[in-house]
Amino acid sequence: MENHDTRSNNYLRLIHDRVMSEYPSTVTFLNYRNAFELLIAVILSARTTDQSVNEVTPTLFGKFPTPESLASAELSMLEQIVHKTGFYRSKARNIRATARQIAESHGGLVPSDMDALTALPGVGRKTAHVIRGTLFGLPSIIVDTHFGRVSRRLGLTAETNPLKVERDLEQIIPPELSHSMSMRLNKHGRVYCTSRKPRCEACPLSDVCPKVGVEDP
Ligand code: SF4
Repeated sequence: MENHDTRSNNYLRLIHDRVMSEYPSTVTFLNYRNAFELLIAVILSARTTDQSVNEVTPTLFGKFPTPESLASAELSMLEQIVHKTGFYRSKARNIRATARQIAESHGGLVPSDMDALTALPGVGRKTAHVIRGTLFGLPSIIVDTHFGRVSRRLGLTAETNPLKVERDLEQIIPPELSHSMSMRLNKHGRVYCTSRKPRCEACPLSDVCPKVGVEDP
């Protein structure tokens, strides 16, 4: 393995170049037609697969296509529609309350401001960053379980708390690369750098990765 300063700009750009060529597209696997639909789909995607969200959103957005219509939906009907995504009671409540806030406080438009986004029910920093990066092209470090794990193994950070990981990586990831890096390291964590058994022998980063914490890589 080559030795690199894993907090250096050179190392970051090397990792970014490699994951760019491995995963040319960063397109989200959630289906959506506009900003509001993406926001609701990301809220529904908590602790479930993108596929199960894609299975419920055609019905959901077919019946309630706008923030105004979703804001006045019957809760029991929403629970029924989103049931398959799990945690359906809280998700139904959150998407209705978020739709209401968007209709009443944001003129029907999804805000780009971090504080405004995280004030919406069901929207944490991770969801807010997905929206900011995907819809508005803003710098966004999206710390989920995959991104955090891969970043630590690559030696980019030693932090484990998501907010600390975000703050730490903000210091070294150039803003213009942050969304691309987030999406691609997330993908890498699903394809090669999996939780239980990372496939280091086949990984395109293997020659430069210090494999921090990986047993018997
Ligand atoms: S070499 Fe192993 S630990 Fe490093 S990124 Fe690849 S799969 Fe993960």
